[in-house]
Amino acid sequence: MAPSAVTDGFHIVVDALKLNEIDTIYGVAGIPITDLARLAQAEGMRYFGFRHEQSAGYAAGIAGYLTRKPGICLTVSAPGFLNGMVALANATVNGFPMIQISGSSDRAIVDLQQGDYEELDQMNAAKPYTKAAFRVNRPQDIGTGVARAIRAALSGRPGGVYLDLTADVLSATLEADAAAQSLVKVVDPAPRHIPSSESVQRAIRLLAGAERPLIILGKGAAYSQADNEIRKWIETTGVPFLPMSMAKGLLPDNHPQSAAAARSFVLGQADVVMLIGARLNWLLAHGKGPQWSPTAKFVQVDIEATEIDSNRPIAAPIVADIGSAMSCLLEAAKPGQIKPSAAWLDAIAKRKQQNAERMRAHLDANPVPMNFYSALRAIRDVLADRPDIYVVNEGANTLDFGRNIIDMHAPRRRLDSGTWGVMGIGMGYAIGAAVVSGKPVVAIEGDSALGFSGMEIETICRYRLPIVIAVFNNGGIYRGDDINRGGGADPAPTVLMKEARYDKLIEAFGGAGYHVTAPENLQQALSEALASGKPALINCVIDPKAGTESGHIQKLNPKSSLSKS
Ligand code: ADP
Ligand code: MG
Repeated sequence: MAPSAVTDGFHIVVDALKLNEIDTIYGVAGIPITDLARLAQAEGMRYFGFRHEQSAGYAAGIAGYLTRKPGICLTVSAPGFLNGMVALANATVNGFPMIQISGSSDRAIVDLQQGDYEELDQMNAAKPYTKAAFRVNRPQDIGTGVARAIRAALSGRPGGVYLDLTADVLSATLEADAAAQSLVKVVDPAPRHIPSSESVQRAIRLLAGAERPLIILGKGAAYSQADNEIRKWIETTGVPFLPMSMAKGLLPDNHPQSAAAARSFVLGQADVVMLIGARLNWLLAHGKGPQWSPTAKFVQVDIEATEIDSNRPIAAPIVADIGSAMSCLLEAAKPGQIKPSAAWLDAIAKRKQQNAERMRAHLDANPVPMNFYSALRAIRDVLADRPDIYVVNEGANTLDFGRNIIDMHAPRRRLDSGTWGVMGIGMGYAIGAAVVSGKPVVAIEGDSALGFSGMEIETICRYRLPIVIAVFNNGGIYRGDDINRGGGADPAPTVLMKEARYDKLIEAFGGAGYHVTAPENLQQALSEALASGKPALINCVIDPKAGTESGHIQKLNPKSSLSKS
């Protein structure tokens, strides 16, 4: 009998991913996964090599959000694994499907703590931060491990999954036939979740009795890609809507039913609030307190049953996937049954008008140096005709002002710090979005925020991605004008270099650098950079006195007598 062909763990991993139509890996090569990266590329997968695992993980997480396929982040053992974990935890918190695959050291030595190279019990370290964590100890189990990781990442509320591959498993051999038979093609990993008809009827009754109804769209709604059903539900009911940050563009921000410009007003006045893929977490003040009407009643559409009642009692929960829920609601509601009162719509329109006028006054001012308003106005004007462009946004003031000033016109184009309020997502999200969409990305970054992932500028240039980074350089965290309260020569804790020329960083890697001090130059630089389709960085000089500490979340920032005095 002829000896049968053998394969190894590396090949089985790549085959298992490809069988499940996963075609891209974001990672940092090193022991023991270097050959896994090489092999994936050799076998036709795309591999994007980063400078730090955290950014690779952010790219994988946002790719998962945009494509509804788990984004794959590949890391080396122990330190590389831990670097990636922040991004994996971020995916879990935000509900993005992602799998971090990490090589790990010899279990026999790790488990007896005998001091291996890069020793760490990675699977157990991962557990508290993930939706699920698995370890594969035998090559014949790789197919099952990959399949379980994919299903765990995608089913129900999506999240981050950890898959541990020991160095031994990667190099272990198996007969090719047995290996082929061990692979698992995952069937229907995110099954539809049809709502009960009682839950749909209950929600319709509650909404039908409302005078001042409000719909809040969250990034779960954006993720669900039920764009048409959501739009139809909003337009046929006529209920005003408020998009959460990453749900902006699901319906265009200039839609007549958008209440975004009257946010505080509608939150305070609504009598029935319908949450669609949005959690009542800190971003909505937990549904309590002075922002909210204490008597408001809630409808909540969410795939995660245990989300219901987590912060405030929900009168009408609909536990379902959003696409199915919207279809059932559309079918069950009688024409005209849900109808916001004319007084409510008038009041919102008036408030929108007032707020828009106030905003216009800020936007039209042309201070020297630039402030957040005038710089963002310039970017807004360029992006106005380019709904296809992805906007990544992080920072404190840069994030808060960016969210309010940059209108979105298409779904899933705004990608930002999200549920965790994390800084450092910028370059990873920009790269992930550019890779999966093939479209240009504009990353609007605070100077502090850019620091967490700035070295990925090299990655952007290496892969020649159409990413333009606008750095809002006010020389500090929050602001650039704080002083050393001890009177010494060291800069204050929040101060960064005002004179920093971030544009020179990208020039080192062959990208285009711009240094701008006025909105018209910013507008021109951005248009030129986008037209070139090449990597660029615009250093935008912002007044160090512009911005407030902690931006819009000052109430979360505990203050000592030092700050109060
Ligand atoms: P935002 O920050 O925009 O308010 P969150 O991330 O807080 O949004 O909430 C998103 C919610 O959407 C989560 O509770 C999640 O369980 C839910 N979700 C995600 N995908 C779906 C889906 N396909 N169908 C229904 N609910 C979903
Ligand atoms: Mg700053």
